[in-house]
Amino acid sequence: MRYPKKKIGFRPTWADVDLRALAYNFGKIRRRLDRGTRIMATIKADAYGHGLIPVARKLVACGVDWFGVASIDEGIKLRKHGIRLPVLVMGLILKEDIPPLFTWDLVPTVCTLDFARALDREARRRRRRIGVHIKVDTGMGRIGVEQDEARTLVGKIVRLARLKIEGLFTHFAFADMDWEFTHHQIELFNRLVQDLRSGGIEVPLVHSANSMGLLAYRNGHFTMVRPGLVLYGLHPQEGMGVRFKPVLSLKTKVLYVKRLPEGRGISYGHIYVTPKKTTIVTLPIGYGDGYPRNLSNKGFVLIKGKRFRISGRVCMDQIMVDVGNTRVRVGDEAVLIGSQKKEVVTTEEVARLAGTIPYEIVCGLGSRIPRVYIDK
Ligand SMILES: *Cc1c(COP(=O)(O)O)cnc(C)c1O
Repeated sequence: MRYPKKKIGFRPTWADVDLRALAYNFGKIRRRLDRGTRIMATIKADAYGHGLIPVARKLVACGVDWFGVASIDEGIKLRKHGIRLPVLVMGLILKEDIPPLFTWDLVPTVCTLDFARALDREARRRRRRIGVHIKVDTGMGRIGVEQDEARTLVGKIVRLARLKIEGLFTHFAFADMDWEFTHHQIELFNRLVQDLRSGGIEVPLVHSANSMGLLAYRNGHFTMVRPGLVLYGLHPQEGMGVRFKPVLSLKTKVLYVKRLPEGRGISYGHIYVTPKKTTIVTLPIGYGDGYPRNLSNKGFVLIKGKRFRISGRVCMDQIMVDVGNTRVRVGDEAVLIGSQKKEVVTTEEVARLAGTIPYEIVCGLGSRIPRVYIDK
């Protein structure tokens, strides 16, 4: 075992999470920004499956300015682990869940006057003030006050004495590139910022850029950016010119090896049949770990520095691989995401083969897969 057993347990399937790569990606992002532009690291969904707390701690050490999470619970987890940086809850919450925002010092997203008033009342009751970020919909069609109603809403929220408008943000509808539409969103948002400014309202933190926005739309940086994907070394689209370092690798070990004659059906439904006398190995990973069943007969695995296709259906806990006449032994390492010798399987490739996006692959890796952190 390359790592202490206590970290992995007794099933040799794990994800290496390389925090050095995370720091490298952060640095790379930092260098693309103007001086003074803040970075909010998007670490929702357990930091895209990489592990909320280790990722957050590393980013604090790197000098990140803000954290963006999806829910109050994710924010509380950060606080309970001693993370003190400002945290924006980017998703909406119910009015009845307002109190923990105060208890845990979390910044809510606001897009209605009704919610703003409820916050203001709670703040008054506690003799406190609370910072908020107002979300504007410039074309995502998700949460956010409609662009043309935003000015009015901001004008009303400004008058609520206990609320402090710290941020104004919007979100792009295209995570990959759509020049025209994204530029249109940036323009609408920019116009709103200008309008507010001319009405004497200056919001300190104005943000719109996800990873794609950060890489491809300099005029969309405003005063803060909100990257997620690129921090983890994944790319919103092929061929964007910048390379980030993948943070996560998914690994396992061969648990069974057998020689089989030609004509043997492999796994449920026998969608793979051995074409000749060959060696079939079994690996302890499956869709119960978030390894997509869509990769049946499609996905690739690296063993002995070579690339092999998955043979037959992906089961809940196991997959089989036809390795031909390659000499493979029980205990040999198999890489499902990452590199081995000169071969590499990227998360992007896995996603493409599974008919989904890289986000879903890393977020989907289950709690059954221990994350092993590599740092120095
Ligand atoms: C997830 C998310 C991001 C980060 O997007 P990436 O494409 O991963 O960079 C930014 N902003 C909001 C509101 C999000 O929900």
